[in-house]
Amino acid sequence: MDFSLTEDQELIVKASREYLAKEVAPRYREIEHRGIVTKDLFRGLASQGILTPNISQDYGGPGLSWLTAALIMREVGYYDPGMSLAVYIVVNNIWSKMIEVYGSRDLKEEVIPLVARGERFLGIASTEPHGGSDVANIKTLASREGDGYVVNGEKVYISGVKEAREWGGGYFLLAKTRPERSHTAISAFYLPIDAEGVEVGLFETMGRIGISTGSLVLRGVKIPKRYLIGEEGRGFIYATEGFTRARVLIGAAAIGSAMRVFDEVVEYVKNREAFGWPLARYEAIQFRLAEIWAELEAAWNLVLRAAWTLDLYSENKASRSEAFKFSAATKYLAVEKSFKSIVDLTQMLGALGYTRESIAESALRGVFSYMSGAEGAPNIMKMIIAREILGKEYRPTPL
Ligand SMILES: Cc1cc2nc3c(=O)[nH]c(=O)nc-3n(C[C@H](O)[C@H](O)[C@H](O)COP(=O)(O)OP(=O)(O)OC[C@H]3O[C@@H](n4cnc5c(N)ncnc54)[C@H](O)[C@@H]3O)c2cc1C
Repeated sequence: MDFSLTEDQELIVKASREYLAKEVAPRYREIEHRGIVTKDLFRGLASQGILTPNISQDYGGPGLSWLTAALIMREVGYYDPGMSLAVYIVVNNIWSKMIEVYGSRDLKEEVIPLVARGERFLGIASTEPHGGSDVANIKTLASREGDGYVVNGEKVYISGVKEAREWGGGYFLLAKTRPERSHTAISAFYLPIDAEGVEVGLFETMGRIGISTGSLVLRGVKIPKRYLIGEEGRGFIYATEGFTRARVLIGAAAIGSAMRVFDEVVEYVKNREAFGWPLARYEAIQFRLAEIWAELEAAWNLVLRAAWTLDLYSENKASRSEAFKFSAATKYLAVEKSFKSIVDLTQMLGALGYTRESIAESALRGVFSYMSGAEGAPNIMKMIIAREILGKEYRPTPL
């Protein structure tokens, strides 16, 4: 087995790293302390192909593999360890990719090139006030009316509502086209955020404050038939395909964030003295650093394996079960290892780690969003892995 990157991958990663170091790293405080991401920065990411790495060249993206996208995402996490930019990239990239795969030609042409140029924001609207994990239980209803649909419902904890409203854009919306509690009752739509009847609210979040998190109240929102993505009743399947890809990219960004804190702490413990010696001379510090390095490397290798599996799956050379299992394992393990490493690394900084003089606290707040639920809660990842190991008949919850 050859672990080396191709020449193209080396060049792409190097170019992304240089861009992020020059354009993103100096704006880190603006992004993670003051919550400012300008449309210029969003467009800048798009101009480098970083915003939508997996969109094909036909629709304005660079058409990269999932493995190359994961390599880029690790750099994104490294240069913005608070994870805000990772969220922009994951939602715009994944949900425009799902429109590219499942949408009609007209819809693809209308939506994707604008997203790939950073002129429109595209997010995902799935979670509802009564719960996010049990997607089959969503209540938002899209009723057929005339030549389209009328949608009523509410979505919460939705990333990017403010940016979509201000910059223009919309959402990959999940809504039921039949009222029953079934996966096959769910359809996917493109919801333009400026459609009449869409009301936007905002939540204050612990971390990744460079991107808003809010709610969408939908009251009698008319959605034309051309905004139905793919076929009626297949929205759940399209969404799980999207989440499966998103989780791998999030795992990559989380590792990048933890590696950034790790590098900062390694320098710190070499220079900080206590009891007459640099902290780096104490085995309590050394052993934990060694464990963290080993754990992050192991988790990173799982990310790469999962991304590679996604590439095979896209070419019908790996099964859906393999792709889903590796993706869920990545989201669970890479996020957990990153978060727990960041907690311990932040402690090694002493009081400094509790201040905004260090990047550690924003990494801690940002990566924690993926422990608490974003892109699927850890228990749900374990349920997916167990389902693929044991078989659907052992699923713990009735559908
Ligand atoms: C910062 C942030 C941004 C987000 N952005 C978006 C977005 O853009 N779009 C979007 O649609 N959603 C978004 N979400 C919501 C996210 O998808 C949900 O948080 C997630 O699906 C979990 O749903 P929930 O929070 O309602 O928790 P619940 O589903 O109510 O679960 C609560 C807890 O119970 C556990 N649990 C649930 N079922 C089981 C079970 N059967 N067995 C064991 N444990 C179980 C879960 O693991 C979780 O810990 C975001 C969340 C966050 C935190």
